[in-house]
Amino acid sequence: MKRILITGGAGFVGSHLCERLLNEGNEVLCLDNYFTGAKKNINKLRSNPNFEMIRHDITAPYFAEVDEIYNLACPASPVHYQYNPIKTIKTSVMGAINTLGLAKRVGAKILQASTSEVYGDPAVHPQKESYWGNVNPIGIRSCYDEGKRCAETLFMDYHIQNKVAIKIIRIFNTYGPNMNPADGRVVSNFIMQALRGEDITIFGDGTQTRSFQYVDDLVEGMVRMMASDSTFLGPVNLGNPNEFTMLELAKEVIRLTNSNSKIIHMPLPKDDPKQRQPDISLAKEKLGGWEPSIQLEEGLKKTIAYFEGFI
Ligand code: NAD
Ligand code: UDP
Repeated sequence: MKRILITGGAGFVGSHLCERLLNEGNEVLCLDNYFTGAKKNINKLRSNPNFEMIRHDITAPYFAEVDEIYNLACPASPVHYQYNPIKTIKTSVMGAINTLGLAKRVGAKILQASTSEVYGDPAVHPQKESYWGNVNPIGIRSCYDEGKRCAETLFMDYHIQNKVAIKIIRIFNTYGPNMNPADGRVVSNFIMQALRGEDITIFGDGTQTRSFQYVDDLVEGMVRMMASDSTFLGPVNLGNPNEFTMLELAKEVIRLTNSNSKIIHMPLPKDDPKQRQPDISLAKEKLGGWEPSIQLEEGLKKTIAYFEGFI
């Protein structure tokens, strides 16, 4: 049995990871300040004696004896990370320093939840880990993109300078149950709008693309990455390479919800990436043939069933 700390454990991805690691017989410490996460996401885990909740803000140091750390604390939706950009970058940078400092002191292995956003508005398609990205350092997305890039740098330097055992994953757009209905990201927005019979809000002309990964596939990849060969540090892309335009996504959500909602167009936010698709050959090679197994229709059906509980 390992003792595992998950920062951001009450969030969308974190709550699924807590459940998976508990089911494998580990002791799980779920740390969260509940900025975008919710106790509701982890309520059913609270009866498990191996589960512990800690209200804490990761911009301040935290001390505990742990074997592994998954560092997920950071708002992920543009609406939420742009609400207080200074806090967002502090969470990524100071959160990395505090969790890496803990890993160094107690000799824990530590995994960073980085993002496809480190590629910015990519000039290379699909994106391989070797691509350095095209990121605006002073735009509205910079607090998130540059914070995550700096965190990757810190992880690598703690490994080189202090021999900390690190792992870096770059997560591409992921969706599923436990997303906050007011999260603001495209999948939850479209599903909630369709279920309520409201207009579906496409930003821009809807030709921009994203590649959507169901959360169970991501969690499988995260666990495999933590267990991977100690010489493999990443960064490694974890995403589903099937790419869709926002127009295609809207139509699919309308079809699967049997909704009367109409599609409307709203202004495209500044610096919105035009396309995004992971090259996952490195993950396949290094993580025992890992690849996503749940495609969009099946994943959307499960997610729609979850959001129906809010109507
Ligand atoms: P989320 O917003 O649902 O979860 C983030 C969690 O971190 C929340 O529970 C929030 O309350 C917590 N948090 C935020 N600031 C904190 C702080 N200062 N101290 C302690 N806790 C704090 O988002 P998510 O989709 O679950 O994302 C989890 C991680 O994965 C994030 O680091 C995100 O950047 C990364 N990621 C997610 C996606 C995706 O598509 N879901 C894509 C790329 C990267
Ligand atoms: N988007 C949209 N309507 C919405 C929310 C988002 O058309 O109600 C678009 C957004 O402009 C972007 C894509 O959907 O092009 C994905 O946005 P999201 O915020 O989910 O993730 P990210 O931009 O970080 O990939």
